[in-house]
Order: sequence, then structure tokens, then C-alpha cells
Amino acid sequence: MRLPLRHKLPIAILIGALFASASITLATTSYASSASGKTTSEAALVSKAKAIHQRVLTLDTHNDIDINNFGFSRNYSQNLDNQVTLPKMIAGGLDASFFIVYTGQSMDADAFEPAGYKRAYDNAISSFEGIHRMTTVLAPSQIEFARSVADVKRIYAKGKKVALIGVENAYPLGDEKFAIQRVKQFYERGARYMSLAHQGHSQLSDSNTGEAIGWKWNGLSPLGKQVVSEMNKWGIMVDVSHPSKESMMQTLAITKAPIIASHSSVRALCDVSRNMDDEQLLALKANNGVIQIVGFNSYLKTDSAERRAALKAIRDEFQLPNNVSAQGLRRGPVGGFSEEQRQVILKRFDDVDAKFPPPTRANVQDLVNHIDYAVKKIGIDHVGISSDFDGGGGIDGWNHAGETFNVTLELVRRGYTEEQIGKLWSGNLLRVMEAVEKIAKDLQAQK
Ligand SMILES: [Zn+2]
Repeated sequence: MRLPLRHKLPIAILIGALFASASITLATTSYASSASGKTTSEAALVSKAKAIHQRVLTLDTHNDIDINNFGFSRNYSQNLDNQVTLPKMIAGGLDASFFIVYTGQSMDADAFEPAGYKRAYDNAISSFEGIHRMTTVLAPSQIEFARSVADVKRIYAKGKKVALIGVENAYPLGDEKFAIQRVKQFYERGARYMSLAHQGHSQLSDSNTGEAIGWKWNGLSPLGKQVVSEMNKWGIMVDVSHPSKESMMQTLAITKAPIIASHSSVRALCDVSRNMDDEQLLALKANNGVIQIVGFNSYLKTDSAERRAALKAIRDEFQLPNNVSAQGLRRGPVGGFSEEQRQVILKRFDDVDAKFPPPTRANVQDLVNHIDYAVKKIGIDHVGISSDFDGGGGIDGWNHAGETFNVTLELVRRGYTEEQIGKLWSGNLLRVMEAVEKIAKDLQAQK
């Protein structure tokens, strides 16, 4: 286990002072005492982290749900394989979770016509109902639904788990005919944050995916701008994790309340369009918002620029269609390529792997590297933590809610104080949520 420098220093200074002129025998003795000192300080560190983990309110802003897990015979109070279940929340000391009403962005021909919108809306409603069923019918003695920051604190104080709702993709709001009234309806159903797009452009906003496929709105659509104002009015935090950078900047120009990125990481450390670059981080700070750094492998570590360039060069040279991957070529013959060509291309991919190896799976240290970066860039008050469990998240050391303590342990190892860890785990997010609640009240009073 790695010890922070400040833990090593006193030992080194002590040994240096005591044995500055010591013989080899003494030096060996000092090594032995140093090793046992490390064991002792590691045990002390773990017990300190456990106490902190016990005392702070831990809140994960992004956990997906499976609509099939809200029945009597199969539900989240059981030991399911899912990364988040009530037994895992209890085992890992995870106190609160935003469960996600997720709707994938349809690209069907009728996606933006009444029939497509109806499918999306029906899907969202069944997710809302499932989450409420968990807290009212299936496991009401273990978990309770929170509609406000006051609720979160009240439920946590009772020793129960806290459920909240985030909406991932506002596509189910529908078109001009329905969208504005449904913002209030979703608020009443418990939505406390919502993103205006997911992967793929919606009727409301461009998605980050536009960096690869081009833009639809160059930011927010006119209806999307109205929806942002309406979310301010009712008290739903605007989530900018999936929308494009330009959409986020336009949101910041309109919003009267702080916003969040519910599950994104740092682009300077992992250059993918789902992450926030420095300009976005600084804009979030200026807005008094928060970024919930996500334990998602490919948003923490990605191919190096050299590896990406080398892989692209092969694809360009052999004019490989987008749907043909190196793995696909390894599995067997691919239409349009002779066996000889296939072997030549595979050899080239192998050479790239040897020269610029693919990244290993991200771990808790990588997650906290992103947290460290964001804290240094925009301050401890604007950073939080999320997992995206059951939606692609999970890293070595934090594979499911039952391993949540490992994140706190790494934060303690890096020297974060209990107060700072409390802010990262929930304080900052709840501060934003409380500000959004207050601004909504003020806006409603103005009408
Ligand atoms: Zn997502």
C-alpha cells in the first residue's frame, strides 16, 4: 500500500535524527521498525477512514435501474447481481442514491413524432413508478423517497437509505404541445435533476456525440431553452453530463440556478467528449455548480493520443469500415478482405498494441486522480462523486455499491479531511439542490 509522503516524512526524519551516525546493524534495526511503523499507520489510516465513512452522508448521484427489479419475486431488497441493491448499499455504507429514469435517444424514423414521443414518455413513467414502488411497497422499512434536501437529512437521521430521482434524457417530455407542462409533472413525480439529452441529439439539446457526428441545434433548441427556465421554476437541477459543451454554455447563460454534471470526469486526464474540459470546469465553478466525478472506466482512462492516431492510420490506410474492429478481424474472415489482407492488418494492430498498449482497467486511484485534478482546478466546493452503476460504471476497487468504502479510504490516504470528504460525498450536491429549491420558490412567488 502506498503511504502519502507526509506519513513517510516523520519516520524518515526520526530515523535520520536517531541513527545519523549508526552502524549497519542499527540501520537494519531501523528498517524493521520502519516496516512495523508502516503497518501500524496503515491500520490507523483504515480505522480513521472507516470512522469518517460512517459519519459522512454518502450520496451517489447516478445509479441506473432495471425495470424488471420492482416485482415481489425480484426486487432491489434482494441479493441481485446488480451493482446497486439495498443489501449492497448497507454493506458498502452508501446512504443515498439518485435512481435514474433513463430513456435512450431513439433514432427511429418516428422518434420525433407523436408515436416516438409516446413510447419515450411511457418508458419514463414506468421507471418513475418502479422507483416509487420500491420505497412504498417493496422495501419501505429500509429506504424512503426524498423530495427535498430536508427530506434527505431527515431520512438519513433515521438510519434509512435515501432514494432520489434523476432523469437521464428529457426526450420523454415530448414536443411543444407537452414539454413545458411535463416539466412540472416530472417534478411532482420526484425528478430533482434532468439532462436535456443523452447519447444522440434530442428535440431539446445537442448531445456530446455531436463531436463525432455533427450538430443539430448548435447547443440548445428554442424549446430546450424554455425547458431550462421551466426547470428553474419548479426546482429541478439541470444536468449537463451528456449534452454538448455548447449546450452547457448556453444553459449557463440562461439558468438562474446552479447546475450539475451528474456523472462526468475530467477531459484533461481522459480526452473523451463525455468529460468536462477546463473551460467547462471553470464555468461550472462560476455558476456555483458541481461536477460529480464518475467511476466509469472509459471516462477515467482512454487510449493515448499516440495510440488513437496509430489506430486511425491503420483504418484510413486499409479503408476499414467503422463497423469492423480489430477484435472482429481476429474472430475470422471479414467481407471485402482476403485472408492475406486480414493477416496483414492484424499484424499492424498487434504492432500498435505493442508500441502503444491499451490502458488497463481504471481503479479507485484513477478516480481520485480525477477528483484531485478538479479540486485543484475549481476548489473543493464544486466536486462530488458518482458511479454510473448498472449503466456502465464500475472500476477496480469500486465495482458495486458494497465497495463504496474504498473511495473514502483513498480520499483519506490522499490527505482529505473529514469536512472535505463530507463535501465531496454529498455536501456540495445538497448545497446546489438547496439553492435550486430556494430559487424555484422565489421564481414561483414572482408570478
Ligand atoms: Zn449516462
